[in-house]
Amino acid sequence: MSLQQVVTSNEYTHISKYRTNSEYPITYLSQEGVKFAIRGAGQQPLPGCANIKNGKTLDLSGLTDIEVQDGVISIGAGCRWGAVYDRLQEDGLAVTGARSGNNGIGGLALAGGLSFFGTREGFICDNVVNYQVVLASGEIVNANAQEHSDLFVAIRGGGNNFGVVTRFDIRTFKQGPFWGGAVFYFPDSFPGQIEALVDEVTKDDADVETHIMISLFFAAQFGRVMGLNQVYYTKEVGSPKVLEPFTGMQPQVEECNKMRMMSLKEAAAEQEAMAMTGVRCAYMNTTIRPDVATIKAASDIFSKALEQVKGFEGIVSSFTLQPYPKSLLQKTNKSDDETILATAKGVIEAIDKEAVAKGQDVAYKYLNYAFDFQNQIGSYGVKNKEMLQEVSRKYDSEGLFQKGVPGGFKLFT
Ligand SMILES: Cc1cc2nc3c(=O)[nH]c(=O)nc-3n(C[C@H](O)[C@H](O)[C@H](O)COP(=O)(O)OP(=O)(O)OC[C@H]3O[C@@H](n4cnc5c(N)ncnc54)[C@H](O)[C@@H]3O)c2cc1C
Repeated sequence: MSLQQVVTSNEYTHISKYRTNSEYPITYLSQEGVKFAIRGAGQQPLPGCANIKNGKTLDLSGLTDIEVQDGVISIGAGCRWGAVYDRLQEDGLAVTGARSGNNGIGGLALAGGLSFFGTREGFICDNVVNYQVVLASGEIVNANAQEHSDLFVAIRGGGNNFGVVTRFDIRTFKQGPFWGGAVFYFPDSFPGQIEALVDEVTKDDADVETHIMISLFFAAQFGRVMGLNQVYYTKEVGSPKVLEPFTGMQPQVEECNKMRMMSLKEAAAEQEAMAMTGVRCAYMNTTIRPDVATIKAASDIFSKALEQVKGFEGIVSSFTLQPYPKSLLQKTNKSDDETILATAKGVIEAIDKEAVAKGQDVAYKYLNYAFDFQNQIGSYGVKNKEMLQEVSRKYDSEGLFQKGVPGGFKLFT
């Protein structure tokens, strides 16, 4: 959990103690005018998005039921993906979910959601067949392709703007072990990695089994910049040729090469172990076209900015390219926040400027990795924003989830 989410804690209401529609606290909260936050696992490091000062936090962590039936897994909103993978492994099944087993369900399945299987199966929200939602009125509805289909469309990327989702029904698929892991190498190879990534993702016949994340990072504990690739091939094929450019570069830190055959559960546990919890942490992201020159310029912007924050105690600062790239900062001292956040914001703005200059810009900003200065909902485009506002007026005419739930990215700002 990000430390910024912990420090804003105020008063918690565990939603699992409410058993019937009329008992749900939504109507009480709307009548009393209490401001509140909705919290899955509290893993999104955006201050105040799942937490609130001088208000109530609806904590969903008690909703932990998991049921598998007819190829669909029903997941209580308080679960973590690790528990979901444990359950599915019993049946040789898998689902699109977070790469780290520690992540909550709602933050991903309401934002889009990137998984190991994204290239083959799409966003996590593309795989949700039904959301069970508590609306502003207190009514519990199902949103799916047949019922409340406008809400079903809006909620996939709409975050906490439409209601409290208490259950997610997600399609499963057969999945065996797959190849993957991490490779550490030296920064001189990073430009070549950018070229290899662009080459792979721009192929007409790009392999749908690949999942590739490449990073350049600085960690105070190592005192130097390193390259890190986390790459996967989601079939039971050892050392697939398509991943060779991302695993075989030389020199590399051979003893840290973790490429191997693994289950989904093991892959998620490894990601969880590599993530730091309980630290001051911020994510920012932007989207650009897969253009080598623009990405190399972005990497140079990051490397230059790094010089301003390298000296901070315990800092880990990372520039990560995913099918959707992100910038990630992790750091320890609150007093360092101002410089670190300003530097990261400067990096994002400079990358955006460079992308515009090269005609490689894309408006979209991924909700899960966006920060408060970013116009995340606006990045969906005018028409989509209007559609989301329309659905909000229909299902939440008093604007409870706009005014009463101030955290996260709102529809009318
Ligand atoms: C170590 C680490 C690994 C990560 N890996 C991935 C990854 O593989 N793929 C990826 O896409 N992202 C990843 N992320 C980003 C992460 O998934 C998001 O930060 C996500 O929002 C966390 O989910 P959560 O349920 O804990 O959300 P929270 O922090 O609890 O909430 C996030 C937002 O969603 C809202 N929300 C949550 N649940 C509900 C609900 N049931 N109903 C209504 N609103 C709700 C909250 O109000 C809040 O605005 C990672 C983050 C970390 C720290």
